[in-house]
Amino acid sequence: MMCNDARLLLHAYLDDELDAAQSVAVTRHMHGCPACAASYADYARLHKALAQPALYRRAPDALRARWTAPGSPAAGNARTRRRWPGLAMAAGFIGALLLTAPAWFYLWQQHGIGANPLAGEVVSSHVRSLQQQHLMDVVSTDQHTVKPWFEGKLDFSPRVKDLAGVGFPLAGGRLDALDGHSVAALVYKRRLHVINLYQWPSTVTTSAAVVTQWHGYTVIRWIAGNMNYVAVSDVNETDLRQFVLAFQDDAATPPMR
Ligand SMILES: [Zn+2]
Repeated sequence: MMCNDARLLLHAYLDDELDAAQSVAVTRHMHGCPACAASYADYARLHKALAQPALYRRAPDALRARWTAPGSPAAGNARTRRRWPGLAMAAGFIGALLLTAPAWFYLWQQHGIGANPLAGEVVSSHVRSLQQQHLMDVVSTDQHTVKPWFEGKLDFSPRVKDLAGVGFPLAGGRLDALDGHSVAALVYKRRLHVINLYQWPSTVTTSAAVVTQWHGYTVIRWIAGNMNYVAVSDVNETDLRQFVLAFQDDAATPPMR
């Protein structure tokens, strides 16, 4: 892959919107290209800055009422346009923003209400796993021990990767339940912190990662290869994003079959 191609794909890479082959190609390119890696780091910083919850603003009630009233937004007649010139300009501006900067919309969505309805349940499960000395049913840093342990206990095979090389050693795994499903919970460590990574099958093939903050915990949810993944921890968001990227990065660590 050449720099020009890589640059075109960096935003989509950041939003986890590339397919596996493109994603691997971009990752490989950045490993050998400091310039593109620096651009990516800049985008990631901007991405994070724009995602601050403090930037979220609820629209004024009058504006919300106009948008949610049936048939009214597009059907505004000349009289209402005269009465609401500021409103029309605001709507036009927001419309232009959405057209020209879909990434912004995505960022707003990320931290919007209900972005991840599972977040509360995931954090509760994470906290429970730490409190009840029931963090792990199988204690091993070896992915070749942890993965087979799940066989026969679940009707799917979780993806298990050791990420010790990038600072997230595998510690073990356990069976858990989320959203009415039996799930595999992999336990990783980040220094003294614990990261729980939940997996269960999805009817959807892929979806971009969604980051949610919940009472001091970060939850990142994505779908890949018809599998739901939810990572949760009290490590800072940057570290958890790094963990997710490392887990998704097939170039660095080939997935087990
Ligand atoms: Zn490059």
